[in-house]
Amino acid sequence: MNSDITPTAGAVSKLIQELNKLPGVGPKSAQRLAYHLLRASEEQARQLADAILSVKQKTRLCSVCFNITDSDPCPICRSPQRDRAKICIVEQPQDILAMEHTKTYNGLYHVLHGAISPTEGVGADDIRIKELMNRFQGSSVNEVILATNPNLEGETTAMYLSKLISPLGIRVTRLARGLPFGTELEYADDVTLTQAIEGRQEF
Ligand SMILES: [Zn+2]
Repeated sequence: MNSDITPTAGAVSKLIQELNKLPGVGPKSAQRLAYHLLRASEEQARQLADAILSVKQKTRLCSVCFNITDSDPCPICRSPQRDRAKICIVEQPQDILAMEHTKTYNGLYHVLHGAISPTEGVGADDIRIKELMNRFQGSSVNEVILATNPNLEGETTAMYLSKLISPLGIRVTRLARGLPFGTELEYADDVTLTQAIEGRQEF
């Protein structure tokens, strides 16, 4: 047997290679997906290919909140039902999905597209902070909710924004940190437990 002969057809190898580049898709999953697609109907395959192409061709960033959208301004910025006095600041567009999924927030958003990270050379000018500050001019915003990630970069960004926004007379709040629902106290790490104690609320 000649070991130079690859066991799969070139087109299949190529597909496995491309799938393997996706986040969270390891070589085994890539293989499984590729063979699944191989068995799928041509129609199904075309629908997937079209969906992938159209996210690149038909979507853009909302000129107001910088969320990913296919109409500008995006449906949230356009909606008369949303509370225009509140802006929730997130790092990435997918954070909006998580927030919307809870159905507990009815204000507007602003996507920074990153977080300040001195170690990775990301400064305040590299994310959409200037655009955020412009939104406050002549607006009725009275509360900004900092929903950046609870890690070093997210905290640094939240701190920076808070110093920038508070002097404008706008209330600045931060998502509460603490124990995830369903956790037992004895298994909580020190940072989480400390934040839970500091962020305690009236019962
Ligand atoms: Zn928008």
